[in-house]
Amino acid sequence: MLIVMKQDASDKELNAVISRIEENGWQAKPIPGGERTAIGILRNKGPIDPALFIDMPGVRDVIPVSKPYKLVSREMKPDNTTIELSQGDNKVVIGGEQLILMAGPCAVESENQALEIAYAVKEAGAKIFRGGAFKPRSSPYSFQGLGEKGLEILAKVREETGLFIVTEATDHEVLELVEEVTDIIQLGTRNMQNYRLLRRAGQAKKPVLLKRGMWATMDEFLMAAEYIMSEGNNQVLLCERGIRTFTRHSRNTLDINAIPYMRRESHLPIVVDPSHAAGRRDQVIPLAKAAAATGVDALIVEVHNQPEKALSDGPQSLYPEQFKKLVDELRQMNISV
Ligand code: PEP
Ligand code: MN
Repeated sequence: MLIVMKQDASDKELNAVISRIEENGWQAKPIPGGERTAIGILRNKGPIDPALFIDMPGVRDVIPVSKPYKLVSREMKPDNTTIELSQGDNKVVIGGEQLILMAGPCAVESENQALEIAYAVKEAGAKIFRGGAFKPRSSPYSFQGLGEKGLEILAKVREETGLFIVTEATDHEVLELVEEVTDIIQLGTRNMQNYRLLRRAGQAKKPVLLKRGMWATMDEFLMAAEYIMSEGNNQVLLCERGIRTFTRHSRNTLDINAIPYMRRESHLPIVVDPSHAAGRRDQVIPLAKAAAATGVDALIVEVHNQPEKALSDGPQSLYPEQFKKLVDELRQMNISV
């Protein structure tokens, strides 16, 4: 249920509505908008009678919310959410006019590797550096990331290049460390339904880039984002990274359909990861351009200075020159990057 207040509703009228919601044992979630304030009702177990609110002073409308997810939904918040990162004069807005590029290696492997790639992607137009310090690998014998040393390197990249950082938190303990250093906390595909971790990320003060589970339906994905928002963190980015299908010509299948669907259902910014969708370098640029053509807010792309020697995801990592070519081609499409 969403209660829409009149434009000239007073604080007293707003508070009276909140009190009535709370008296019933529900939670009130005011959602300030450009034109008017709306109040979402959360934690109700069954349907709510609109008559409870419709005659209250200052109330313009009472709208039932038909979706299982609420805070995430466009029904609750019609205007797009933007996420701003800032560091002194340096500002990046995700969800605005510009397509924001996040780029970097799958994993941070050394200071030299990270810095070299960071300078190259920055030069090409990236605003955010990606790189895992704690890696969730399918095999326990694969490179698991440099851990805390990796986070120190990311902090250095941030300091030296001015790029913002996105890096993955694999569990509670890692999240504590990651949130100190990073600008955006990434939650990976394998953790999309780790509900305790989602809740913990919801208590963090940093934006969360939530990757869609490789098996997840849209409802499951949006409900996962709802977990984060239900803990008070409104800064969530929805990332489509490819889902498992029957194909053998790619690692996953980029679910392009999901992009307009998410745009319609949710106000949250949309990110596409063409690298994990493709799993192979030759498909990354076309997928990135296709996603950009649908109007996504950001791309997150794996780039490595020596992909053939990369400790993870080398076959899908672009060479820095290819990343530059991608940016040039996006500009030729009249996309502002
Ligand atoms: C990654 O970004 O390197 C990664 C592991 O992503 P995903 O969770 O989508 O597999
Ligand atoms: Mn990777």
